[in-house]
Amino acid sequence: MTPDERAALRRHMEQELAALRETIAILEGQVDPVAPDAAVGHLSRLDTMQSQAIAGVSLGNSRRRLLRLESALRRVDDADFGECENCGEPIPAARLLAMPESTLCVRCAEQMQTG
Ligand SMILES: [Zn+2]
Repeated sequence: MTPDERAALRRHMEQELAALRETIAILEGQVDPVAPDAAVGHLSRLDTMQSQAIAGVSLGNSRRRLLRLESALRRVDDADFGECENCGEPIPAARLLAMPESTLCVRCAEQMQTG
């Protein structure tokens, strides 16, 4: 990975982190318990509970992604950052941009998935 690629990747991760923190703040607002008088009727209350459940799942996913991104950002200056943990081959920049938290190349990730 060239220093330019590394710098671009770092900027990209910082932007993703900022966006993710905003998403988490919004989702946290949505999973707040509904005050009883906020519900107009039974259906709308069910509706609200359903969207809360969905927001809760998204919130969990976003928080996990945030942790992975933060840890990737801490490692971005390491000499071996961007190398596959399994085979040591460089992970393609496009994959790192799409999923900065990747620690495996596509081939190894697929192998792990299929067992
Ligand atoms: Zn690999």
